[in-house]
Amino acid sequence: MSLTTITTFSEEETRAAARTFGTSLQRGDVVALYGDLGAGKTQFVKGLCEAFGVRQGVTSPTFVILHRYEGRDQFGREILLYHFDLYRVTGTSELYDVGYEEFLYGDGICCIEWAERMKELLPPKRYDVWLSLGDAEDERRIEIERVVPTPVTG
Ligand code: ADP
Ligand code: MG
Repeated sequence: MSLTTITTFSEEETRAAARTFGTSLQRGDVVALYGDLGAGKTQFVKGLCEAFGVRQGVTSPTFVILHRYEGRDQFGREILLYHFDLYRVTGTSELYDVGYEEFLYGDGICCIEWAERMKELLPPKRYDVWLSLGDAEDERRIEIERVVPTPVTG
């Protein structure tokens, strides 16, 4: 288990931190984002998308649950980035309706804002990213944790 804590003082710094983190992501990775409204989850996703050269505008898919962006991986091959925003999701049926598994277990990169709303459906192997406000106005605290499946013992 590894935990990285970053403090940023502007949205640009948050995007830059996400961009750096994004370069370590591999196909199939899932990034679960947690934090209140305005914490910077969408800015973080923007930075991740920058790491993959996404040219489409990245905004919270508040009304459609899911956005899909096209990017390029480190080998120049097309890679899809899936951006979920579960703010308005009230139950798991909406997730089943969009066929969330295809995106979570696909070969793109999947980012999920308000990931706690699908807690039971999150894959055991993922990154958890917690964003929170700091003391100064534009200060944000970002904690990135690599979550790995617990080995079966016995
Ligand atoms: P969320 O998706 O968590 O609701 P957004 O990323 O949409 O949050 O919005 C974050 C807001 O906070 C933006 O208006 C952004 O300009 C502002 N902001 C100020 N400082 C920061 C920072 N250090 N990191 C990210 N966003 C910041
Ligand atoms: Mg958002």
